Amino acid sequence: MSSNTSHPTLADARIAVLGYGSQGRAHALNLRDSGLDVIVGLRKGGPSWERAKAEGFNVAEPGDAVRGADLVAVLTPDMVQPSLYRESIEPNIKPGAALLFAHGFNVHFGQIAPRADIDVILVAPKGPGALVRREYEIGRGVPCIWAVHQDVSGEAEAKAKAYADGIGGGRALLIKTDFKEETETDLFGEQAVLCGGASALVQAGFETLVEAGYQPEIAYYEVLHELKLIVDLFYEGGIARMLEFVSETAQYGDYVSGPRVVDAATKERMKGVLTDIQDGTFARNWIAEYQAGLPNYKRLKQADLDHPIEQVGAKLRARMPWLQANAPKAAAEPL
Ligand code: NAD
Ligand code: MG
Ligand code: MG
Ligand code: MG
Ligand code: MG
Repeated sequence: MSSNTSHPTLADARIAVLGYGSQGRAHALNLRDSGLDVIVGLRKGGPSWERAKAEGFNVAEPGDAVRGADLVAVLTPDMVQPSLYRESIEPNIKPGAALLFAHGFNVHFGQIAPRADIDVILVAPKGPGALVRREYEIGRGVPCIWAVHQDVSGEAEAKAKAYADGIGGGRALLIKTDFKEETETDLFGEQAVLCGGASALVQAGFETLVEAGYQPEIAYYEVLHELKLIVDLFYEGGIARMLEFVSETAQYGDYVSGPRVVDAATKERMKGVLTDIQDGTFARNWIAEYQAGLPNYKRLKQADLDHPIEQVGAKLRARMPWLQANAPKAAAEPL
């Protein structure tokens, strides 16, 4: 497609993209449309193999894709990366080639100790794969953060920036970070605010209303459904835009009651969450949990799925047809 001459560093490079999920598919398609040479590495018979082939890619087993590649992008789930590295990357990656991650977890927490003769870089778009692809297709891009962990070629930074350009990030904004900052802030955000904090806030609000005798259907609308309207305003224009659009009564309630719910003690506990991330406690527990076959993960997930807000929500969403069309897309975008 439209070839792009703005990345001389990777112009003659072979790029192996391992994984064809949310990020992998978007990166592979954008890099190819930027005129770069892409091969997709997947397990034969795995869920994405046929899709990548159908979308015109040269697809190979991970080890074969890595052999001969000048840049290897590791875009599989984080917990499978250490074995993938040991079995398919370490024995096959060329000296001087670059190993690229979209999340620094395994390198930062020592689960992957990259060979000393390769570059190790990070490029993480600040958006899900579907957005990375959609923005690229309309000639724009999603901002990316980038980092260098190891530079043996002297060109690690140029490679990271060229890759970020190739997926469209250079059209928007590139921000320099390091593996520690990317890893720790990503984990903190999803735990304290985005996934953990927001879902716990919604469940506690729902329980408070229902325990006080209000109808669960009404509670669902007030504490979960309408959250989207607020978050969309945050996304478009920050908290300032939300304040512009809600009533004076809602604003006054925000000012006096918000700090009663999320107070200095909450912030202290957030600092505890951050400390567990920084000192490796969270990573150690998560790796042990994964290796034990996810017993607590499955139990805690089931408790969330069994929460009464889910039953009432399913019933109400079935009467809001505009949500049905969107449901599969949202479910396919893990953080
Ligand atoms: P995903 O679960 O959507 O896709 C994973 C892909 O890897 C699938 O194609 C799967 O078939 C393949 N795969 C699984 N095991 C494999 C193996 N052993 N060998 C080869 N391929 C295998 O993953 P994702 O959400 O795109 O995440 C990929 C990386 O990107 C992770 O490091 C993640 O932290 C990071 N990241 C994701 C997002 C996001 O929005 N999803 C944003 C920024 C960074
Ligand atoms: Mg994140
Ligand atoms: Mg994350
Ligand atoms: Mg939760
Ligand atoms: Mg209301």
